[in-house]
Amino acid sequence: MTRTGEQYLESLRDGREIWLDGEPVHDITRHRAFRNTARSIAALYDLTHEAASAPVLTVPDTDSGTDVHRAFVIPTDHAALVARRRAYKTWSEASFGFLGRSPDYMASGIAGFAALPEVFNGETFDGRENVAAYHRRMALGDLYQAFTITNPQIDRTRSAAEQEEDDLVLRVVKEHDGGITVRGAKMIGTAAVFGDEVIVGTIEPLAPQDIAHAVSFSIPLDTSGLKFVSRTSYEAGARSVFDNPLSSRFDENDALLVCDDVFVPWERVLVYRDVEASLRQWWATPAYNNFVHQAATRFWTKLEFLAGLAILIAKANNTYQLPPVQTQIGRILGWVNIARSMLIAAETECEPVEGGTGVMINREIASAHRAMAGDLYPKVLAEVKLLAGGGLIQLPASGYDLQHPTLGPLLRKYVRSPEHPAERRIKLLKLAWDALGSEFASRHEQYERFYHGAPHVYLPAIVRDGRPDLCERLAQTCLDGYRLDDVPYGVA
Ligand SMILES: Cc1cc2nc3c(=O)[nH]c(=O)nc-3n(C[C@H](O)[C@H](O)[C@H](O)COP(=O)(O)OP(=O)(O)OC[C@H]3O[C@@H](n4cnc5c(N)ncnc54)[C@H](O)[C@@H]3O)c2cc1C
Repeated sequence: MTRTGEQYLESLRDGREIWLDGEPVHDITRHRAFRNTARSIAALYDLTHEAASAPVLTVPDTDSGTDVHRAFVIPTDHAALVARRRAYKTWSEASFGFLGRSPDYMASGIAGFAALPEVFNGETFDGRENVAAYHRRMALGDLYQAFTITNPQIDRTRSAAEQEEDDLVLRVVKEHDGGITVRGAKMIGTAAVFGDEVIVGTIEPLAPQDIAHAVSFSIPLDTSGLKFVSRTSYEAGARSVFDNPLSSRFDENDALLVCDDVFVPWERVLVYRDVEASLRQWWATPAYNNFVHQAATRFWTKLEFLAGLAILIAKANNTYQLPPVQTQIGRILGWVNIARSMLIAAETECEPVEGGTGVMINREIASAHRAMAGDLYPKVLAEVKLLAGGGLIQLPASGYDLQHPTLGPLLRKYVRSPEHPAERRIKLLKLAWDALGSEFASRHEQYERFYHGAPHVYLPAIVRDGRPDLCERLAQTCLDGYRLDDVPYGVA
């Protein structure tokens, strides 16, 4: 069975070590920086038990018969990919696309590992059985996998082992009969503090000398020595749900992971001292492509939400029917459909998992989506802001002003538009500011640009994963179709 929201919240009260503003956080389900977001995630789990959404989100596990989330399942055909996308869509709509790392993100990555376990049969360590057991544990326990697979930005011109100190980037410091001890840091644990386990690995290539850093494992969040250092909490900074409707409820948090001599039992190790397997874990298995499938669904949902805001804002300003505004709305809706159609195309042109089980979305289109989304998101924000004008800024500091005996009547008189009395207008524009201009919004812009890597990494990947030869050949065919002496100059 999948968990209920209450069971999920209970599991968070386990003594995990989280730091915020120089203080330890003892219970994230009660702390003002985390509690609402924890409840928003709990609501996702509750959806797996509701009559309308349960069949979309869950499916009986073939071996045990128990219901598991679809994201843990290895899709075997196009229809299974579509079914998985519908599950992603149901969850992403519950947060309007603002919970990027909801539990289905990494669950589909784990299914990707299980689809091609041979990748974990490395030179020095055979992780295949551990991967299979890990997949079962996470799927049947309905566990939430956080992940930190990026090395900290200390000196990007040096490899992991060449940094000023050899344990800045997380590495193995000791091997025991029962497991390994690791020390060092990883970035950026988005939603990590809300997870049950964190997987550590490295998604970018390591150098041959980085062998001690070429390790991957998944451990519970309450493991001794595991520390999460949170960024500023937007949820804690929110005045109320009315004033900050998104940041007060969907601040998925980002944290630095520090492993202070953490013991990892062998059965939790997936890759060990293997530079090649460390990379192939993400790229040779469907793991990365499965991430994109979830992310592309969420991105489409988020653009639908922003387009909806644009329409509501134009109506509130009574500009909706103006031809230039229709042009702007049309542009935004066109972008929504680009996002939707890339997703559908990636499913339609799905590929078999070579050497493994099942299918995955089209690698070439997944690679292009990564670049499209990072480029497009700032443009969407800019276009909606352009529509909104100064109304986004001319807002009372909080909803209390509306309730104040002197200020309330003033605001009702001066902050309004046709069919939009003050409260309705202020409510809409506060939501819009949270999505477009707040610190939370700015973090989301950075997220959409970087969560799948930096442009200097993903743009060359389009050349690598794509078919540049087809484009080159077409242009060459044109060139080959005429010669200098074919047609005399001046003759049509
Ligand atoms: C909001 C947010 C959430 C994230 N969540 C997660 C998460 O949950 N888990 C996780 O593991 N990671 C996460 N990440 C990290 C993400 O994977 C990285 O940001 C991404 O891989 C890029 O790495 P970087 O930030 O270190 O940038 P860098 O690699 O340092 O690149 C930054 C810039 O430096 C320049 N640059 C650096 N190196 C080169 C080079 N070799 N050649 C040319 N230019 C270069 C480029 O201008 C580049 O854009 C998150 C990031 C953000 C912003």
